[in-house]
Amino acid sequence: MEFNTAGLISLEEALQKMRAYVPPKTEKDSESLPLADAAGRITATPVKSPLFVPPFDNAAMDGYAVRCADLHADAVLPVAGKAFAGAPFHGEWPAGTCIRIMTGAPVPQGADAVIMQEQADISDAGVRFTAEVHKGQNIRLTGDDIKQGDSVLPAGVRLGAAELPLLASLGVTEVNVWKALKVAVFSTGDELQPVGTPLEEGQIYDTNRFAVRLMLEQLGCTVLDLGIIRDDPQALRKAFEEANTFADLVISSGGVSVGEADYTKQMLDELGEIGFWKLAMKPGKPFAFGKLQNSWFCGLPGNPVSAALTFYQLVQPFIAQLSGHTAWQFPPRLKAKAVTPLKKSAGRLDFQRGIFSTNAGGELEVRTTGHQGSHVFSSFSLANCFVVLERERENVAAGEIVEIEPFNALLRS
Ligand code: AMP
Ligand code: MG
Repeated sequence: MEFNTAGLISLEEALQKMRAYVPPKTEKDSESLPLADAAGRITATPVKSPLFVPPFDNAAMDGYAVRCADLHADAVLPVAGKAFAGAPFHGEWPAGTCIRIMTGAPVPQGADAVIMQEQADISDAGVRFTAEVHKGQNIRLTGDDIKQGDSVLPAGVRLGAAELPLLASLGVTEVNVWKALKVAVFSTGDELQPVGTPLEEGQIYDTNRFAVRLMLEQLGCTVLDLGIIRDDPQALRKAFEEANTFADLVISSGGVSVGEADYTKQMLDELGEIGFWKLAMKPGKPFAFGKLQNSWFCGLPGNPVSAALTFYQLVQPFIAQLSGHTAWQFPPRLKAKAVTPLKKSAGRLDFQRGIFSTNAGGELEVRTTGHQGSHVFSSFSLANCFVVLERERENVAAGEIVEIEPFNALLRS
């Protein structure tokens, strides 16, 4: 089949080109932070455990600590003392006796098994054990989980609710992380108004800065918001220059198509190096990428769905790379049965917004959110996934299998 795709580049190719530009991070890009301030940051070096976990041999059950050598047939062992979690047994432990022990208590020196209390008969004379005993049973050994010096987290991992408590459990007080990325944001367009201002004829509210700012914050970036910039080369130049003095990355929206008021490309040509692409992707055809003097630049398309989608699919992975977040990846794509028809013409990879769920038979199903226009931002709030339709695919009938990509936390929180 022939496509009219002259000059269009694929999403993969665009991502590859962006990735190829980024130099590896160096030590000067990292800083050491107290654990409490490190939430959402990315590890710059592997984190090693300063401790053994558990730090001492301890009981896995409530019961009795014994020396197996004392357990001849019909042995009755008097209780010589008690060991609690946080209150170890330190007394004399005569041969032929046992120690009452609770879960988590340090196992007394010399004990080689813990017998659960359900397998003990207690009388005035002492404790008789009713089940077979194996050496080492119910003892959690020092370093069973983690050895001192073991790497517990690699570099390139985001510190969240799974990672920070782990480090706290090891007594780690400081962690070496990459510095937060500084990102400047502005919207372009004479028609745009910030929320809170009444709309005059022909004006609309600025959606994109809200979307971009929120997503950047969720990605752990420090954001400088430069507001709305008019479609005027002078104003645009000033915005670019100011952004470039502050930011590692500058993100604009609008003005990247070929209309008469689209100055972004021209400005980039003047102030930096431009890579301007027509992406074989829908929505989101025009996308600018380049380098200013001190910063990277991403120019999102103006239509809000296109802006959010290109941010999600292109800028998000790019930011992960700039941030040293090497463990980052999109949620895996899954196969689902379309239960509504989906409109599609061949030529561009399509990211439609869909709602997926599991049907009574346990299979994944997906339906459309409805109108898929690049100005229909409500489609995002209805959706929980992208329906990813291959470049060459055409209309999808109900019942066909399609690929879905569940939203990650940027779009679903
Ligand atoms: P442009 O790429 O500047 O030609 O914009 C394409 C379309 O997106 C036009 O209909 C613009 O009005 C609209 N648009 C541009 N920027 C925004 C924005 N920040 N929020 C909402 N709509 C926008
Ligand atoms: Mg515009």
